[in-house]
Amino acid sequence: MSFADMPVDVGPVYEGERIRGNQMYVELGGPKIEKHFELVRVKAAKEIEDGKVNLIGPDLKDMEEGKSYPIGILVEVSGPELEEDLEAVFERRVHEFCNFVNGIMHLNQRYTNWMRISKAAFEKGFNSLQMLGTILIRLYKAELPIIKKAQVTFYTDPEKIKEPYDIALEIYNKRDERARSINDEDVDMFYGCVLCQSFAPTHACCITPNRMSLCGSISWFDARAAARVDPKGPLFEVPMGDCLNELAGEFTGVNEMIKKRSLGEIEKIYLYSGMEYPHTSCGCFEAIDFFIPETGAGHGIIDRNHEGVAINGLPFSAMANQTGGGKQMPGFNGISIQYIVSPKYQKYDGINSGLEGGIYTIVWMGRTVKDRVYDLLPEDIRDKIATEEDVSDLSELPAWLEKVQHPIIETEEYKAAVGGIEEEEEEWEEEGAMVPMGTVGMTIPGVGGAGGFKVILKNCKIHAESIIIKKIEPKRKKK
Ligand code: SF4
Ligand code: ZN
Repeated sequence: MSFADMPVDVGPVYEGERIRGNQMYVELGGPKIEKHFELVRVKAAKEIEDGKVNLIGPDLKDMEEGKSYPIGILVEVSGPELEEDLEAVFERRVHEFCNFVNGIMHLNQRYTNWMRISKAAFEKGFNSLQMLGTILIRLYKAELPIIKKAQVTFYTDPEKIKEPYDIALEIYNKRDERARSINDEDVDMFYGCVLCQSFAPTHACCITPNRMSLCGSISWFDARAAARVDPKGPLFEVPMGDCLNELAGEFTGVNEMIKKRSLGEIEKIYLYSGMEYPHTSCGCFEAIDFFIPETGAGHGIIDRNHEGVAINGLPFSAMANQTGGGKQMPGFNGISIQYIVSPKYQKYDGINSGLEGGIYTIVWMGRTVKDRVYDLLPEDIRDKIATEEDVSDLSELPAWLEKVQHPIIETEEYKAAVGGIEEEEEEWEEEGAMVPMGTVGMTIPGVGGAGGFKVILKNCKIHAESIIIKKIEPKRKKK
């Protein structure tokens, strides 16, 4: 396969390329645009005109520099071995293949997709989505040889995107509904995915019926179909092995998989815990589950669409930095929206605190994520979870929790945390802070910046008497 006819290079080496605001020609999709999506559909061969790229709306060259536009990417494929279950897995590859293009940055998936085209690429002549369509078609057919024919349609017109957008949402919902129909106990095989290792080298997803991949785009059914057609590909079987701890979701097979795929960095994971040996997070999680120490055992959830800060004063982006990168970070977990409504959701943490399940640890959710899961949350908890409309910061949270009689207030951890707040504030000054840091890596460069050491502190807690931050001023030269 050649891309010699394209004005820009294409290849895996460009994955991970960042395009900052001042380097971008235009932005497609992303948080500033209401309707955008990407969708793959399996069709009958006769419905596909192989190699065809359709564009509905303005092309790149018609767009105004620095602006954001809608983007719908519909990839239609056919092949005798294709089945509907493969659509979601094929769809996830849009992310990877777009990132192969030198001059495109692609983030997220489904209806949170977000792309930037660089000024440098545009100036080199990459000025049409026709080119991107052709690149996608060639990559799909080369990387997934079971795809025999492919065509791509782009929607950039804000009106004409509406109908395909609604269809896409309906399809995502159907997929998620089906994914909720089985449980981990019903199967004898889990699946893994390492598609994100180009960004997070120690990350591998373990996908089970009750734990959809954290990007929210690959369910157990999707992973099974992908592993069946391409067993040596990025999605693979994970034999469960022995269950070491049912409540935590610890399996010998999952531990072996993560140890091997993280190159020994991660020893084990508890599938149903956000606090002990949690699943690693790459960077494309749909939401973050974060521990709120001030409530003893309570957690919050924020998703990508949340504007402003979470209850802990941090925006999604700051918490995402803490959470992602393939680290195992107790208290900060990248999750899919579907996992929130799973019966296994952080069950280990909830039950250990004396609650009925993991969802009962949730004391705060951003409005956008709460709206998405509200109907699927247990009725006895959903109105007790605060949003930014109910409480504006942590100081108001205990009063809310007590007013609505959130079950967290009965936990020993909550009583100790809330009862101890006044004393703690005094002690804080005296004793400093104990900050759980998970696994921390730092590099000490050698002489002249070459070689040096890499120091990895596993599951460390850093205790500091005080923290002093000093600006390093360059030394003045003597006259
Ligand atoms: Fe695969 Fe997980 Fe990345 Fe999704 S988040 S593409 S499942 S590794
Ligand atoms: Zn990822």
